[in-house]
Amino acid sequence: MTVMKTREEVTPAPLPPILEVLPAALRRDAAPVRCVCRHCTPNLSDVQRAAHERVQEDWRATRIAWCEAHGYQLLDLIQAEKEATADRVRRRKSAGRH
Ligand SMILES: [Zn+2]
Repeated sequence: MTVMKTREEVTPAPLPPILEVLPAALRRDAAPVRCVCRHCTPNLSDVQRAAHERVQEDWRATRIAWCEAHGYQLLDLIQAEKEATADRVRRRKSAGRH
C-alpha cells in the first residue's frame, strides 16, 4: 500500500493571528515610552534618556525573541499592528457617519 503525502503532512499548521496570542505586555500600546528624543522629552537628562532608550531596546528585543520562539517573524507582528490600526481608524470613521 502506498501512502500518499498530503499537503497537511508537509505544511506546518497555520499559526493563529499574532495579535491574538501576543502577550499584552508586548503589544505596541504597552510600549515603555513612545519617544525620548530631545524634542519630545526636553526635561530628561542624557543619563535618563539613555536609560529610557535601554528599556525600549529591551522591550523590542523581547518582542523579537517572543516572535522567534512562537514561529512568527517581527514583520508579521508589525504588519498585523499596522492593519489593526487601519481597522480602528476605519471603524471610527464609519461610526461618525450617519
Ligand atoms: Zn521624539
